[in-house]
Amino acid sequence: MEPVNRTVFNSYRDLGIELPMAGAIKTETGESFIPSDAFLAAVNRARVFLGSSIIIHEGHKDLILAESEMLKGAETRVMGTFAARDFKKGETIRFFEGDLYSRAEIHELIDSGKLNNDDPLQIGRDSYIVCNEDSRQINHSCDPNAGIRGERELIALRDIKTGEEVTFDYSITAHPDITPEIWTMPCNCGCEACRGNVQNISTIPLDRLATYLAADAVPGYLIPVVTELLASNKPA
Ligand SMILES: [Zn+2]
Repeated sequence: MEPVNRTVFNSYRDLGIELPMAGAIKTETGESFIPSDAFLAAVNRARVFLGSSIIIHEGHKDLILAESEMLKGAETRVMGTFAARDFKKGETIRFFEGDLYSRAEIHELIDSGKLNNDDPLQIGRDSYIVCNEDSRQINHSCDPNAGIRGERELIALRDIKTGEEVTFDYSITAHPDITPEIWTMPCNCGCEACRGNVQNISTIPLDRLATYLAADAVPGYLIPVVTELLASNKPA
């Protein structure tokens, strides 16, 4: 089996961009853009976290990696992904990238300590991707601003402003047969709607689930499941 890909992290460090005192930011790929205050705030968080370099998602200069806002109180610093430009509701933010694995292979990787239980992204009843370093740095929120369309497309669930941390609801990818014995994750996202413990898709409150479905932000393989959950729980 191929090892978990962790090499991307080193290569995008080379994309560190010079921050001038004023004016446009120029990336190493030659593109330039005028930073907003919120963008600079996100960049400053990145610099605090990483010393002098600014890290962006490889091939995505509009996504910055920095210390997560939500998890600032955590014992160890946790990275998060921040929008470096505005995203309109429904817009593609990026695609999750990584290698494809079966459920059995994923369990094997987790059991042998090679993979964190919260990291694989379920994209089918029996298929997962092990996200590359960048795709993996997108945190969960119980009240997220992004969702998943189709198989691996991260989209804006609502308008996202420059400087906001980009999050999605991890429960949205987990089939109902992923019981808490298989996967559960304590959550301290701090939002009013925090569920405290994150589990499979059937534990998402129905009104929220309906919002995700209406925004076309439910993974394709789970749309029938969501439709059924909503239909069977309709008030008489
Ligand atoms: Zn939460």
